[in-house]
Amino acid sequence: MVTRRPPAARPTGRFVPSSGVDPKDAKRRYPKIQAALDQAGGQPRTALRHENPFELLIATILSAQCTDEAVNRVTPALFSRFPTPAALAAADLPIVENLVRSTGFFRQKAKAIVAAAGGIVERFGGEVPRRIDDLVTLHGVARKTANVVLSNCWPRPASDHGIFVDTHVRRVSQRLALTAEEDPEKIERDLQALVPETRWADFPHQLIELGRGPCNAKKPRHAPCPLLPWCPTGRQAT
Ligand code: SF4
Repeated sequence: MVTRRPPAARPTGRFVPSSGVDPKDAKRRYPKIQAALDQAGGQPRTALRHENPFELLIATILSAQCTDEAVNRVTPALFSRFPTPAALAAADLPIVENLVRSTGFFRQKAKAIVAAAGGIVERFGGEVPRRIDDLVTLHGVARKTANVVLSNCWPRPASDHGIFVDTHVRRVSQRLALTAEEDPEKIERDLQALVPETRWADFPHQLIELGRGPCNAKKPRHAPCPLLPWCPTGRQAT
């Protein structure tokens, strides 16, 4: 009996240029892309206001489906009332719901942050854990959230974070033909193969700045973009 091999998986990324992704070419272009990002400057850190890892963890959970600005508007009152994991773990849910209401999905988010605070108290002695495998065991904490917290609070080698992939990182890395993938964990794996570990904390923030500026979702402005010389999408379009 002849067994047919299944066809090779096709790239799935929605913003990948029609010329596709050549991993060798991505490797060749990456140092130029990194140099251009460094030259563009900016603040390669999260815009979520926080004073410690606990506050950043809670702010990151609240930032799902909402802007950093909206989160920054509610967290001062939230952290003033519940300044520690123990305080938040013991909070009355309706009070927390009211405090985070304007961030959307407030019932799920309130439940998630109270449960995450409870997990920190019960299983990690009241301290946010520094290992990604521990962080993702907390309620409402997926790999992206864990990567955001660890890379901002304890950049490598102080923790074992990877590269967080949000909607901007996904879109910009696809347009730059650094990955052909749509799944965030596969995109992270592709980026980790290109970017040195010492840059895993700031590289995604640099892509986010670009994604909020010239490389926006609806109408990218290729001509003024500092990455145009090394970007297959921009070169195809100009
Ligand atoms: S050249 Fe265009 S597609 Fe490429 S990164 Fe810049 S804005 Fe985005």
